[in-house]
Amino acid sequence: MLIVVSQAQSERKPPTEPAMDRFVRYVKIDTQSQEDQTTTPSTRKQLNLANLLAKELTSLGAQNVRVSEFGIVYAMVPGNLADNSKVPVVGFIAHMDTSPAVSGENVNAVIHKNYQGGDITLPKDPTQVITVEKNPVLKELIGDDIITADGTTLLGSDDKSGVAEIMTMIDTLRQNPQIKHGTLAIAFTPDEEVGTGIEKFDVKGFGAKVAYTVDGEELGEISDETWSARTATVTFQGKSTHPGTAKGIMVNAMYAMGDYLSHFPHDMLPETTEGRVGFVHPYAGVIDVETSTLKILLRDFDMSGLDAKEKLLRDMVTQTGDKLPQVKITIDVKENYKNMKEVLKNFPELTNNAMEAARRAGLKPFLKPIRGGTDGSRLTFQGLPTPNLFTGGGNFHGKLEFNSRRGLEKSTETLIHLVQIFAEKS
Ligand SMILES: [Zn+2]
Repeated sequence: MLIVVSQAQSERKPPTEPAMDRFVRYVKIDTQSQEDQTTTPSTRKQLNLANLLAKELTSLGAQNVRVSEFGIVYAMVPGNLADNSKVPVVGFIAHMDTSPAVSGENVNAVIHKNYQGGDITLPKDPTQVITVEKNPVLKELIGDDIITADGTTLLGSDDKSGVAEIMTMIDTLRQNPQIKHGTLAIAFTPDEEVGTGIEKFDVKGFGAKVAYTVDGEELGEISDETWSARTATVTFQGKSTHPGTAKGIMVNAMYAMGDYLSHFPHDMLPETTEGRVGFVHPYAGVIDVETSTLKILLRDFDMSGLDAKEKLLRDMVTQTGDKLPQVKITIDVKENYKNMKEVLKNFPELTNNAMEAARRAGLKPFLKPIRGGTDGSRLTFQGLPTPNLFTGGGNFHGKLEFNSRRGLEKSTETLIHLVQIFAEKS
């Protein structure tokens, strides 16, 4: 079997453009999204990449290619089986936008050829160093070509890696009609980083029965679990007046917020937890005499754990309220998304097929719960089961982001094996 696989690979024609070239081309297009916008996409510039991808999909033989009014690119890659209806339509999704946290303008991709180990200092800012200590995965990249930004911007590996890999898969399939696969649904989405793009996703029009987001990091990392997430807003209502005549009248809401903050348990914060341990995270607020507000993230893999965190925040309101009764404190908690495992446990073949595909690509697949959400979490609860696959990249959302030639190529190869496995197993 192994011999057959390697023969098939050696006979395989390469894509018209290598995954790395395609990736470097896409990262140059600024697609940074922006928080708190009323439109989708949140920034018009994301359409530059959307329109380019639509054009390229068409030239790669994809059908029904369209860019929706919200800037979502949809396409269908026809299957090449005698009877495509016997194989489920598998969807592949990646997001086009990059994080609002760091600029994505004028990204200058630097290729560190034939990496020989050691820390990587980014050329335009010597304080930006990708260290082996913080990135042990570097040890596995010896001899590889590593791609980084120049130290002044993010790279946009998140998620132009996923975009480039899906496009290279389509390119490779077109070059190699001997690779048998069912019909594939493709989507590239805006505004993943600000959490709003997926709200506009047309699950029915997409046409897939199951799907994968290609938005993970280290080679082999597959995720079918995400946080269950809520956001709390605590409002501290005081009373403002002219400070010169405030005696006995002014109630300064800031002190209540300060007291409330002092009650956060230190062992339940993002900076003190990892793995499967959840947290509460005060992340933004407005501080003012009259009205102060505090926004808090609640995260846990289990619903019971999330409920306990919500109870804690409510109990803290009571505590501060007892101490400073003149300030009126209210708390409002909203559901953001749920752990997709609650649904995906009923679709074990999705994870199993992905693990098998990674193995066929010569990788050691492993499951990793995501300490975050993915567009797939939302889609999963809308009836489209969608785990997340690796892209080979690392250090997402910062100036130290990277990927590598092998990372991009092995991720692409995994996708190609994956569509074959679905065809074989149906
Ligand atoms: Zn991403």
